[in-house]
Amino acid sequence: MNLQLMALPFLFLIACGGSEPTSETKKTAGPAAKTEAVSKKAAPTPPPTPKPAAEPEVPVVVDDGTTVTINLTADDAMKFNTAEIKIAAGRTVKLNLKHIGKMPAKMMGHNFVLLAQGTDMAAFSAAGVTAPDSDYIAKAMADKVIAQTKMLGGGESDSIEFKAPAAGTYDFLCTFPGHSAIMKGKLIVS
Ligand code: ZN
Repeated sequence: MNLQLMALPFLFLIACGGSEPTSETKKTAGPAAKTEAVSKKAAPTPPPTPKPAAEPEVPVVVDDGTTVTINLTADDAMKFNTAEIKIAAGRTVKLNLKHIGKMPAKMMGHNFVLLAQGTDMAAFSAAGVTAPDSDYIAKAMADKVIAQTKMLGGGESDSIEFKAPAAGTYDFLCTFPGHSAIMKGKLIVS
């Protein structure tokens, strides 16, 4: 009695999980083998199981040997899509920042600001709080900025181009007040 009860769900699992896909693959394996190469090209690949809100996977860093493209996103959860960006020295850098959230710039503004080495990020952020008109970058600290995008609201994007700085590790952040606690990362040039 006990054994039977335990075995039942087990058998059920085997029956459900195993039979369908194996019989299908067996069917196609034999006769289709000869025309496999042709049918692979001709037959349209069946659409993969649809994922909710499936967006094309965009690589963060694309290097063509001359220009390195950096694709950054920032969202309403106050996050960049990466905290570490590695690029090669000597490249022209094209950086695309897209705010994939919905909130306006005044509430959830995001930018990308790359700082010169040796800059105290906390002090830089703190000084910027009183400078909303210059995207929260204090004028006195402006010389610490290697590159920056505009401050963006949800749905907006900006692209900038700059020369990769000398080999080394550089801090980047979003200068919107409070954001740099989370919205920060390292750009590593080597
Ligand atoms: Zn931000």
